[in-house]
Amino acid sequence: MGSGMPNALPLAPTVVDSSVSIARLHGEACFDCGAVGKSLRAAGNVVVRGSTRVWRIFTCGCRRKVAAP
Ligand SMILES: [Zn+2]
Repeated sequence: MGSGMPNALPLAPTVVDSSVSIARLHGEACFDCGAVGKSLRAAGNVVVRGSTRVWRIFTCGCRRKVAAP
């Protein structure tokens, strides 16, 4: 924890395709590149198309959308 920002959780979830791997939805792997064993950080919420389940996703920082600390 501790990059300081309360972050953007109130954002509406991004809709993703159901082909996204479950490991990524579970936050066990980087949502963008699939890396495991890296330091992952919360990267917002997604919903799988056709579902209402909201998943909290994580990335390793490979995508610039997430503000770096
Ligand atoms: Zn990544």
